[in-house]
Amino acid sequence: MGYFINVILPIPLEKLFTYSVSKAEASYLKIGMRVAVPFGKSKIYTALVAEIHTTAPAVYEAKEIHQILDDDPIVTEVQLRHWSWIASYYMCSLGEVFRSAVPNAFLLESETLILKNKETVVDEKELSDEEFLVFEALERQSMLKVQEIAAIVDKKNVLPILKRLLEKNIIQTKEEVYQQYKPKLVRYVTLGEKYQSEEALGGLLDSLSRAPKQSKVILSLFQLQGNTQKKITVKELEVKSESSAAIIKTLIDKEILEEVLVRTDRVVFDPAKKPKNRKELNEHQQQALEDIETSFSENKVTLLHGVTSSGKTEVYVKLIADCIKEGKQALYLLPEIALTTQLIARLQEYFGEQVAVFHSKYSIHERVEVWNNVLANKAKAQIVIGARSALFLPFSKLGLIIVDEEHEASFKQYDPAPRYHARDSAIVLAHLSKCNILLGSATPSVESFYNVTQGKYGYAQIQRRFGNVQMPEVTLVDIKELTRKKRMKGHFSEHLLHGITTAVEEGEQVILFQNRRGYAPIVECTTCGHSPQCPNCDVSLTFHQYKKQMRCHYCSYHMALQQSCLACGMATLNSKGFGTEQVEEELQKLMPNLRIGRMDLDTTRGKYAYEKIITSFEKHELDVLVGTQMLTKGLDFANVSLVGIMNADNLLNFPDFRAHERSYQLLAQVSGRAGRAKKRGKVLIQTYNPYHQILQQVAANDYEGMYTDQINERRQFKYPPLHRILKITFKHKDYTKVEDASEWFAKSLRVVFNSTVLGPEFPAVSRIRNQYIKHVILKMEKEQHLGKTKNHIKRIEKSFDAIAQYKGVRVIYNVDYI
Ligand code: ADP
Ligand code: ZN
Repeated sequence: MGYFINVILPIPLEKLFTYSVSKAEASYLKIGMRVAVPFGKSKIYTALVAEIHTTAPAVYEAKEIHQILDDDPIVTEVQLRHWSWIASYYMCSLGEVFRSAVPNAFLLESETLILKNKETVVDEKELSDEEFLVFEALERQSMLKVQEIAAIVDKKNVLPILKRLLEKNIIQTKEEVYQQYKPKLVRYVTLGEKYQSEEALGGLLDSLSRAPKQSKVILSLFQLQGNTQKKITVKELEVKSESSAAIIKTLIDKEILEEVLVRTDRVVFDPAKKPKNRKELNEHQQQALEDIETSFSENKVTLLHGVTSSGKTEVYVKLIADCIKEGKQALYLLPEIALTTQLIARLQEYFGEQVAVFHSKYSIHERVEVWNNVLANKAKAQIVIGARSALFLPFSKLGLIIVDEEHEASFKQYDPAPRYHARDSAIVLAHLSKCNILLGSATPSVESFYNVTQGKYGYAQIQRRFGNVQMPEVTLVDIKELTRKKRMKGHFSEHLLHGITTAVEEGEQVILFQNRRGYAPIVECTTCGHSPQCPNCDVSLTFHQYKKQMRCHYCSYHMALQQSCLACGMATLNSKGFGTEQVEEELQKLMPNLRIGRMDLDTTRGKYAYEKIITSFEKHELDVLVGTQMLTKGLDFANVSLVGIMNADNLLNFPDFRAHERSYQLLAQVSGRAGRAKKRGKVLIQTYNPYHQILQQVAANDYEGMYTDQINERRQFKYPPLHRILKITFKHKDYTKVEDASEWFAKSLRVVFNSTVLGPEFPAVSRIRNQYIKHVILKMEKEQHLGKTKNHIKRIEKSFDAIAQYKGVRVIYNVDYI
């Protein structure tokens, strides 16, 4: 009898592929282990075992595997079921899910580029002969493909050797190098071990009596430490003792001080420090908690709808504590991890070392570490905080998932496949893991609220802010009227300027929101109307004052700002629209004494830039913070009393069926930054359109009004959540090819689905990186059987693929696109 395994290859194949194994291998292998396998003419891939059986494939001869790569599964069976769901729901292959779900280092293949890790000091004696050969080859040549290394070592299968070298951190993959970011190390010092006793210390101080500068450093250290043993940063010590880095270095060299390097982005956990006690919940939080627990006991997905600053986080904390008390794991999903320093710090105060952060910017090594800790259910990874990809970790005992800010669009992943929605995939994961799941938001998505009204989800709410602080007072400022009366200063209304002055005079802070980065997004010639375009994409370039550049936000193309129009040559270029940079500059001119900071993608590129801005705003080194929607992401500033929205109209006018829902969410969330701690905050919304329904609803804090309007519209125009939508994208360099191919496809779809097919249409930006783009949208009845629908589409795709003239046109499915 022959033995076979079906494996998932990390490529877009529709089916699992079968390989033959020996009897011994078959009995050793478990589902979820990796194997190195040959594929095609000469490729080697890392594949994942999905099935073990004795049925030979019917249409091809099964090749043998090269080697087994793991001693234990690295992926659980629940994960495999979850991936299958994702592949089938989001219309992609299991291999594509595999590729995006596991850290790159797990996926060595013949084409992978390998480099030496320069950071690691290698003791050559510790390397095996083969490892040494690889190491030596990489000394001579900086980068090698896996297949080249195979030739050097003269061994077909080098993946196990490379795996060991990766684990020892001696080599790294090319992807890794691209992703790498340098962790920031902070130098701390404490008293050397030898001087811990009173006696030794006395002796030390005596001996230093002739080195006054050094003894001043030691005394300053004691002052800073107080009665504790805590570590002090070298910076602090330098300042306090008025000494220099050189003096401190001398003390370190003499081992009087001990130096410790601590990574600032990692858990700086002091074991001596007891976790903080959790806060007592107030009656509203308590009620919400009880409602959540009841709903959990009915195994329902539950929505926590609590206004901004109502204390949702404390409720999550309570649920997490209960979960880990039972020895189970908790997963806390956030829209964007880079933006959540405040939250991570808060959870670490309560749970200390049990919190693990899963960060796409962490090195592969660290991600593998978290992966393994989660798999082994280690104490160190009882609670995982992460953005959507944390969903793919190998939880073995998941008890609770929290999806915070569940309405956020960034939970949906775009490119490449699997294009999954992390909230919805989390719900499926919870179901497969039989664990509880809570969605939280101050402004729930129309989808989730709809599910509540249908009785499908449980519901809990907190309608009051913590400490009974009132919801902010929202005023709509009619800038059309004010412009007509010439009572605007640049983009600022008198009301807003007055509000800023008053707040700052009272020692309070202000947030200004403008939904565009850059200076003046578009430059236009007032003579001929030309505005500079990106040569690769079908968009106008955006002007960035700071670098005096015109940039494309789609492909990063840029050029220097022109003095005169490229089309007609006249020096009549004028800016149109305005961005955060201009807001900052105008305000600074109007109020020169104001300390203004800006937060947008341009100012937060570096890893720590974001934290720096937040911290300096928190420390009140800034009076005003100007920013884009980054500002909405759950930040908690106690001293902000005024939020100004520069222009609400560009949000409302966005051509998308979700534009109104989004505007409501965004405006309500930004407004929520006002007056969180003490007194009632103020919000000024500048608009040309103060009677717009959505703005009225934001002003009245009328979520349900917004919801009712939206759900009626969606029903009428057949949009989610009442209908499912699938977007099919066609891409090619050649304009006519895209036109013809998408027409053909849409026509074929219409034969089956009639009027529910829209398009093909060019999107607002119809060419990106020299590729033309067309969309076809399919609206599906909720009752319509999804599997059947997809089979129809797949069949059409097969015929499509057979048409020679459409060759090369990419077809991309995006299910539930948002
Ligand atoms: P949300 O997540 O709903 O916007 P937070 O959880 O950030 O609200 O809470 C808002 C503020 O109220 C925070 O500063 C938080 O520390 C404080 N807070 C919330 N609940 C309590 C509580 N039970 N006791 C003391 N302070 C609380
Ligand atoms: Zn471009």
